[in-house]
Amino acid sequence: MSSYVSDLMASVKAKNPAEPEFHQAVQEVADSLSIVLEKHPEYRRAKILERIIEPERLLMFRVPWVDDRGDIHVNRGFRIQMNSAIGPYKGGLRFHPSVNLGILKFLAFEQVFKNSLTTLPMGGGKGGSDFDPKGKSDNEVMRFCQAFMGELFRHVGADTDVPAGDIGVGGREIGYLFGMYRKLRNEFTGVLTGKGLTWGGSLIRPEATGYGAVYFASEMLATRSQKLEGKTCLVSGSGNVAQYTVEKINQLGGKAITLSDSNGFIHDPDGISAEKLAFVMDLKNNRRGRIAEYADKYKSATYTATDAAATSNALWSLKAHCAFPSATQNEINGRDAENLVKNGVYVVAEGANMPTTLEGVNVFLEAKILYGPGKAANAGGVATSGLEMSQNSMRLSWSREEVDTRLHDIMRRIHKSCVEASTAYGTPGNYVNGANIAGFLKVAQAMMAQGIV
Ligand code: NDP
Repeated sequence: MSSYVSDLMASVKAKNPAEPEFHQAVQEVADSLSIVLEKHPEYRRAKILERIIEPERLLMFRVPWVDDRGDIHVNRGFRIQMNSAIGPYKGGLRFHPSVNLGILKFLAFEQVFKNSLTTLPMGGGKGGSDFDPKGKSDNEVMRFCQAFMGELFRHVGADTDVPAGDIGVGGREIGYLFGMYRKLRNEFTGVLTGKGLTWGGSLIRPEATGYGAVYFASEMLATRSQKLEGKTCLVSGSGNVAQYTVEKINQLGGKAITLSDSNGFIHDPDGISAEKLAFVMDLKNNRRGRIAEYADKYKSATYTATDAAATSNALWSLKAHCAFPSATQNEINGRDAENLVKNGVYVVAEGANMPTTLEGVNVFLEAKILYGPGKAANAGGVATSGLEMSQNSMRLSWSREEVDTRLHDIMRRIHKSCVEASTAYGTPGNYVNGANIAGFLKVAQAMMAQGIV
C-alpha cells in the first residue's frame, strides 16, 4: 500500500469510526487510484479524492408511523447526497433492518463512480431506512413510505436528487413514495425512477440490473472468444436483480442452477427454467414467501438452510462456470472466492453492490478470472433509471426494444471503458482498476473545472 493510501485510510477510519463497509469501499478505490494520482499530481493537490470521500450533504431523520394494531414505531431515515459534480444525485433507497450510516455511505460512494461509468449525467447518492418490510401488510408499508417521504420531499426533486429502489424497495414502495411526493409538492415530475408504466415508468427498468449484469458477463466472455451459451451459472438472491439475471441467462442459452434468500439457497441441477422462474417471481413479488418453497414445488431441487456459524457459503462451492452474486454486500468472503475458483468458476459478474470482501477480490484478481465488479457489472440498473429520467423530461416513452438496445449499448461501452482504463494504467484485464479509474476520471475533470465547492 502506498504511503498516500495508508495516510488517507488512517484519516478515513478516524473520521468515520465504526463504518467498516465504507472503509472497505474507499480502500478498494484508493488502491486502484494510487497509480492515477501519481500520474496526475494536480488531482492530489486539488484533494479530489478527499473531497469525493466526504458527502456533500448527509440527511438523517425520524420516521414515525402507526401499524395496523395502532402501535407506534420509530424508524430512522437517511439520504446521502454524495457528489453532484456531473449531475443530480442519483441512487437507490434501501429498506432493511441492517441499514445504517456506514452501509449507505459505502453505497453512495460506489454510486458516484458507477454513475459516471454509465456515460449519463448523474451524480451519486443513496438512502433508506432500517425499516423491515418483511411481514408488514401493504397498508403498513404504505404508511411507512408516506411518513418517510413526509421528510424526504424537501430534499429531492427531478433536477436535485432522484432516488430509486434497492433492497426492500420495489415497485410497490416506489408507488407509495411517488404518490406522497406528488401530493406534497403538487407536481408530477420524474422525482423517482422505477415507476409503474402508467405513471412515468420506463419499460425494461425492472429488468435492467439483471440483464445488464449478464450483458457485462457476455462482454467479458467475448474477450476470450466465448459465449454464455452452455454455461452453468450460480446466482444468489431471489429479488429483483437475481430474477432478471436468471431470465437473461436463460435467453442467452445458459443454465442458472441456484437462488437464495437470507434463510437459505436452492440448488436445481436441471436449471431454473422460464416456468420455474415464473413461480419464483410470484412467490417473491406477490406472495412474499421464502425460497425454500421452490424445493417443495420442484423435486429436482434441494434446499440448504443458512448456517450462521459457517465460515463459507455452500452455494459458492458448487461446480459452475459463472457466478452472479445478486443478494447483498460481503456475501463472498476469501474462502468462498477460493471455492469458486477451485470449482471452475472463471466469470464473476456482480449484480449486488460490493458482494465480495477485499480478500475475495484479491483471490479473483490473482487467479486472473473474468471478474466484473458491481460498479461496472450492475450499472445497467441506474443507467436505465437515467433513461427513465430522459423519457420523463421529454414526456415520451420509448419502446421495449429501444430501451433494451440502449441498455445493451451502455453495458458494452462500460465494458470498453474498463478495458481501456485498466490497459492505459498498466493493469490489463483488471476490471476493478478499470472501473474505478474510468469512473473517477470523469468526476475528477468535472470537479477541477468547477472550482473548490
Ligand atoms: P431485493 O430486495 O429485490 O432482493 C434482495 C435479495 O437479497 C433477497 O433475496 C434477499 O433475501 C437477499 N438478501 C438481502 N439482504 C440479505 C442479507 N443480509 N443476507 C442474505 N440475503 C440477503 O433487492 P435487489 O434485488 O434490488 O438488490 C440486490 C442487490 O443488488 C443489492 O446489493 C443491491 O444494492 C444491488 N443492486 C440493485 C439494483 C436495482 O436496480 N435493484 C441496482 C444495482 C445494484 P431476503 O428476502 O431473505 O431478505
